[in-house]
Amino acid sequence: MASNKTLLMLPGDGIGPEVCNEVRKVLDWMDNRRAVSFDVKEGLVGGAAYDAHKEAITDNTMQDAMDADAVLFGAVGGPQYDNLGWDVRPEAGLLRLRKEMDLFANLRPAVTFDALLDASTLKPEVIQGLDIMIVRELTAGVYFGEPRGMQTLDDGTERCIDTQSYTKAEIERVTDVALDLARKRNKKLTSVEKANVMKTGVFWRQTVTDYHAAGDNSDIELGHMYADNCGMQLVRNPKQFDVIVTDNLFGDMLSDVAAMLTGSLGMLPSASLGGVDEMGRRKALYEPVHGSAPDIAGQGLANPLAMLLSFAMTLRYSFGLQDDADLIENAAQAVLSRGIRTGDIMGEGNEKVSTAQMGDAVLEELDKQAA
Ligand code: NAD
Repeated sequence: MASNKTLLMLPGDGIGPEVCNEVRKVLDWMDNRRAVSFDVKEGLVGGAAYDAHKEAITDNTMQDAMDADAVLFGAVGGPQYDNLGWDVRPEAGLLRLRKEMDLFANLRPAVTFDALLDASTLKPEVIQGLDIMIVRELTAGVYFGEPRGMQTLDDGTERCIDTQSYTKAEIERVTDVALDLARKRNKKLTSVEKANVMKTGVFWRQTVTDYHAAGDNSDIELGHMYADNCGMQLVRNPKQFDVIVTDNLFGDMLSDVAAMLTGSLGMLPSASLGGVDEMGRRKALYEPVHGSAPDIAGQGLANPLAMLLSFAMTLRYSFGLQDDADLIENAAQAVLSRGIRTGDIMGEGNEKVSTAQMGDAVLEELDKQAA
């Protein structure tokens, strides 16, 4: 079926191709059962691209990514590529995609699955029903600010500098994404910085406050929190949050804290969003949080749920297909409730399945739910 929805799939290395296979099954299912189809292109990235072309992503694939409505990315990397130069290492492919697509907003949901509450180190009552979204600024801040690097002072003292730097526009555009998300969720936004000790923190807080006030945002409750307190609150009472917006450094840490509330790496999706182009399209790349897991690659052991949930995010955020995204998320919940598990999330009395069997179980649940 011809479609006006274009999707570029970049499976990458290690378990990337295995988990992407399970998405293909769901794409076929949607085509057959929901009459929703996509023009899917595939490309090489990371070590796979290096093996074929001696670069981590080719200009052609990069162009396909720029042209697509959404990019679905598996994972890159592997020990065989660890000694390559920086510019051709597998990670360089992902970094180029992030840079050229200008993916400034990283969305990291932390959602708990009832059947996996035991996998968290927190008490079940603290995390049951948890559904929060961390929006991390991804392309500025201390990871990119200048000056950076080593210096030798006149007296011979060595010192090293990183610079935390934000422009107003960089804060406003990520705030805009976070407000938009909050509006579609529980209408509560918490902006996180260190305004008590950092000038950029004061600027961040003021900019978010002004941006919220200047727009038509009275339906969104805006609060502010210091980053250290936010870390504490995330493990004390995470359900107080809906959407959190924060800078690159704090977002890096807080999103990993939030991830562990839910227990397992094999369950965590993510999205990275860019600006809206002249055609009204927002550039977007979706990927599981986990890496290429070379230790289990090629053995059918990988958990495909993080990848499938990343595809659900694709449907929700790039294509506005909320019902279809819900179907996939609910199917994943249902499969877990039936005790079906890949090795990484096995518990006592569960049924251990392979990557493909997990994908098939999701399809079965999709059939039931769509019936
Ligand atoms: P990893 O996420 O690949 O693996 C960490 C551990 O979690 C491993 O034991 C692995 O078997 C397990 N695991 C990860 N995903 C799983 C899944 N879906 N199902 C079951 N088990 C899963 O991280 P790592 O071991 O630090 O890195 C391995 C390679 O991946 C490295 O080359 C690294 O650079 C790369 N990496 C890539 C990305 C990315 O592509 N975005 C992210 C992180 C790491």
